[in-house]
Amino acid sequence: MKKISLLVFALALGACSTQKEIVDIPIIFDTQRILLTKEYLLNRYGLEQNSPEITPKMVVLHWTAIPSLKKSFEVFNRSTLPSWRPDIESVSGLNVSAHFLVDQDGTIYRLMPETTMARHVIGLNHCAIGIENVGGTEEMPLTKQQLKSNIYLVKYLASKYDIDYVIGHQEYTLFENHPLWLEVDDGYRTEKTDPGMDFVEKVRKATKKFNFKPVPTKQ
Ligand SMILES: [Zn+2]
Repeated sequence: MKKISLLVFALALGACSTQKEIVDIPIIFDTQRILLTKEYLLNRYGLEQNSPEITPKMVVLHWTAIPSLKKSFEVFNRSTLPSWRPDIESVSGLNVSAHFLVDQDGTIYRLMPETTMARHVIGLNHCAIGIENVGGTEEMPLTKQQLKSNIYLVKYLASKYDIDYVIGHQEYTLFENHPLWLEVDDGYRTEKTDPGMDFVEKVRKATKKFNFKPVPTKQ
């Protein structure tokens, strides 16, 4: 009898230790940002919507290549693109962002509602939840704690939404001929290397039980 209750206790303790906290630190989402997001959905994807809502179908993993949580947050916080991104400003003035930001110590921050569109991946923003990780440079590679938190988040999101794909940002162009790809301009692409296939494969391996679909191969 004593043995059984001890086992139950140990199991409960185990469940607790894998439960992570999600800390909400919302970025600015004012009238201007809502308007720009709806404009983006219409101009880039031909989707005319009353609200900037998305139906999540995939999770896209990123790194910020910015060496601190504060600086990464500041980049996403403003509603419009700063002038230092003229390469993509011609397409839309909407600032880039992501739904989650994971610090080097693994703390998970939620920057915006999970079903509001964030600008983080060309062609797929209408169905993609973005997870950004602080760091990713040679001096500040992604950490084990970040990997654990990304695995936790993918499990959390896949339990909540009908998620078909988990991809690294560097894989996004593989979806060019996929039904989910909606970008209207064939010339609008940026080359991405984040967050590295090693990181992506580890997340996929740890979330195997969800049977995510394989990423399309290049035609
Ligand atoms: Zn990225």
